Amino acid sequence: MSPNRSVKRANLTVWGAAGLFILGLVVASSVLIASMRATALEDANAQLNRYVSAAEAGLNRTFLNVDILLASTASTLTTSVQGGDWPTAAAGSALLARTARLNLAVRFVAVVDPQGRVLASSDPRGADMQLTLPADFVERALASTVSTLVISAPTQSVASAEEVLYLARSLKGPRGESLAAVAEMPESVLTGVLTQGAQIPGLEVVLEKGRGDFLIAVPDTRSAVRPGVIAPLNEVLAAGSTPVWSGGTRLSGQQGQVFARPIIYDDLWVSGSLPLGIALAGWHSDSTVVAAVTAAFSALILLVAYFFTQYLRRIGHARRALAQSKAQLDQALEAMISGFVLLDNQQRVLHWNQRFDELFPWLIGMMQPNVAFRKVLLASAAHELPDIDEAGRSGWVEQRLMSQKNAVGSLEEKLLDGRTIQILEHGLPDGGMVITYHDVTDMRRASAEIETLAFYDPLTGLPNRRLLLDRLTQATTRSQRSGQLGALLFLDLDQFKTLNDTMGHEMGDALLLQVAQRLRAGVRNVDTVARLGGDEFVIMLNDLSGERIEAAKQTQRVSEKLLASLEQPYLLGTHQHQSTGSLGATLFGEAPQSAGELLRQADIAMYQVKARRGNGVCFFDPQMQTTISDRAQLQTDLKSALVRQEFVLYYQPQWCNDGSMVGAEVLLRWQHPERGLLAPGAFIAAAEETDLIVGIGEWVIYTACNQIESWKDHPQCAKLQISVNVSARQFRHPRFVENVLDAVAGLGSRAHLLTLELTESMVLDNVDETVARMHQLRARGIRFSVDDFGTGYSSLAYLTSLPLHQLKIDQSFVRNLGVRPTDEVIVQTIIGMARNLELEVIAEGVETEEQKQHLLDYGCTFFQGYLLGRPMPVEALCALQPVQDSKAE
Ligand code: C2E
Ligand code: CA
Ligand code: CA
Repeated sequence: MSPNRSVKRANLTVWGAAGLFILGLVVASSVLIASMRATALEDANAQLNRYVSAAEAGLNRTFLNVDILLASTASTLTTSVQGGDWPTAAAGSALLARTARLNLAVRFVAVVDPQGRVLASSDPRGADMQLTLPADFVERALASTVSTLVISAPTQSVASAEEVLYLARSLKGPRGESLAAVAEMPESVLTGVLTQGAQIPGLEVVLEKGRGDFLIAVPDTRSAVRPGVIAPLNEVLAAGSTPVWSGGTRLSGQQGQVFARPIIYDDLWVSGSLPLGIALAGWHSDSTVVAAVTAAFSALILLVAYFFTQYLRRIGHARRALAQSKAQLDQALEAMISGFVLLDNQQRVLHWNQRFDELFPWLIGMMQPNVAFRKVLLASAAHELPDIDEAGRSGWVEQRLMSQKNAVGSLEEKLLDGRTIQILEHGLPDGGMVITYHDVTDMRRASAEIETLAFYDPLTGLPNRRLLLDRLTQATTRSQRSGQLGALLFLDLDQFKTLNDTMGHEMGDALLLQVAQRLRAGVRNVDTVARLGGDEFVIMLNDLSGERIEAAKQTQRVSEKLLASLEQPYLLGTHQHQSTGSLGATLFGEAPQSAGELLRQADIAMYQVKARRGNGVCFFDPQMQTTISDRAQLQTDLKSALVRQEFVLYYQPQWCNDGSMVGAEVLLRWQHPERGLLAPGAFIAAAEETDLIVGIGEWVIYTACNQIESWKDHPQCAKLQISVNVSARQFRHPRFVENVLDAVAGLGSRAHLLTLELTESMVLDNVDETVARMHQLRARGIRFSVDDFGTGYSSLAYLTSLPLHQLKIDQSFVRNLGVRPTDEVIVQTIIGMARNLELEVIAEGVETEEQKQHLLDYGCTFFQGYLLGRPMPVEALCALQPVQDSKAE
């Protein structure tokens, strides 16, 4: 229903109720007024009745007294005279005066003859008094045979000029003559009787003859009564009216109440009548009051109804306004670009907008008024965290609800589809909550872009100086804590300016981009490659060794790798370009240093490289630089040594306990052009740091194999077992097996004369791969010896899984034979174990006869050491044989 119509209906109801109220009020007051009228009339009647009854009684008494007075006149007169004769006139009059004085109602009493002459009277003048009676009055009194009281019409007294009535009774004189006793009664006497006790205002009192004559009227308005208007009482009564009737009042003829009663004399009636207007005067005023009160009440009701309807109208207005503003609000909420949910204080959904549905389409259907928000969150979790189990999700929901309760305010949620939603939670005073959801995906993307601009180089996408300094600061503190050092490399491309100037900036940019890619590819993920601008790059290496020299070596290796990758040709458009770079390096993490200071150091180091015509790396620390430089130099020299064939193999003989030379270990020597003959200790480590060792090792194996091959028909050396040392890096090289097989290819069945010496740690490093490689070579007849055996202290169980031929007791144990009992135990154990595994056991570093004796006592069968022969050129080895042979013989 529209609010308008409901207001109209309410209005109608109010006015209807008011009307009914007023109607009831009017009916009630009408009934009241009617009953008041009836009561007023009853009261008037009762009053009239009382009055008329009293008046009747008063009149009856008055007339009766006079009648008695008149009737007793004869006897009064007679009894005073002896013999039944009447007294004289004078005496009679005196007697009359005495009796008449007792009756206050009469002025005088007289005895008259039929002609009206006074025979005696109570008047002081006695019989001489002047008396004029109405005509026929005496005749009428004497006419009836029975003496009765006769009453005259009102007449004016001659003597007093008063209105009077004459009353008469016939009597017999002493001689039987007819006489009449007459009394004069002033009208005022009757008026007094009639008005006595009559305090009824407006009362009309009449003493009248039934035939129509009015004797007395109070108030006396007889003269005003128009003849014919007032019907004689007899006629009225004959028409059927009771002595009480409603009709014309007896004096004014108005509508009113009339009450008439006959008195005991001569068709005389006394009537009291009250005009209705007067009878109802009190009622009139009372009913006016009632009507006024009713009217006032009605007015009040109307007023209340009016105000009530006004009130309703206002409420209607307010409600309409409210509905309108709610509609506007709804509209506004719907138009909101943010999703929105309103919760009550029980965390139930009260309201949400369409945008919410658009943001979270998977919640459509779930959102219902009064649904617990927990359920909504659970549904959300089910959608957004599909990989998490039930418990995990409800944990997430509880956490969300908890943070909501603690009014964290704002949080951001990354949706699976990549959108970022910002969630703002606002507590309401009633305990409810407004939650708004903004899709801030674009904003976040934009700010990420801004961040990129702020922290990344737009051309290469690498971190810029700002981000680098930031990371460097963090890295130095982290480094100091962990003890692992880091390095900062400052790279400047050589001759970049020339390229830029001659080929244009596009080419320059293209080169920088490719340099950036190569640098990035050349370092680990934990490292940072940054571009400072132009052709300046900085590489930050993290988590290097805690050892200064080792960290420097690592840095050096990475630097060389990077420089090597930069040396590769670039394809810029269709143009091929060659470039190099200059790297300055500095280590950090040993002492607290600022990022700026480190950057400056690396920069200075880089300029040293530039000064040496670029394409190299230089350390900021001079001592470090020396160490590194020397090593670099050594490696450079090793490279060329291989090319220039400066390496030679020395052979150290190996002897059997029967005194025969059974083999030799080849030991590398470097015939250095300036430093003379160098032992492996001076260069092998440097070679092992790079793949140089692979090439060198390959050369050793080839050379050894060639030696075996060339000894094929040699009488002394044809059966010599040749041991070759193999470095870990060499053994791990992908082409190692292939190379060895290549080397022994020409040996045929004599390949078993080649023994490869591996170290314990090498074997243990990656057992599966090692075993696989060893089997491949073993299948070709190649033998294996474990060099420096016993130093690893490792579990010996693995030995059974390896295709081994020999264990070589490390020289440190041999040196301690007879000195350290524990080492003697170790040597004994090794020899016993080798015997159990059916392996050959050889002791190296045997320098004394005593050592040799010990070994012999323990059961060792093969020996190598200075006691028996130092490493020597191959010619010397061959020359040894006869001596040993003779010795053995
Ligand atoms: P290694 O494999 O333990 O070789 C034995 C070393 O002990 C040799 O030193 C040898 O001269 C020395 N030596 C032999 N008998 C005695 C002795 O009675 N007393 C003492 N004090 N020393 C003795 P060298 O020739 O300087 O070789 C040092 C190491 O260099 C070798 O130790 C081996 O690990 C490595 N090496 C030598 N040649 C090669 C090679 O061709 N390739 C590889 N990868 N490493 C090699
Ligand atoms: Ca060796
Ligand atoms: Ca050794």
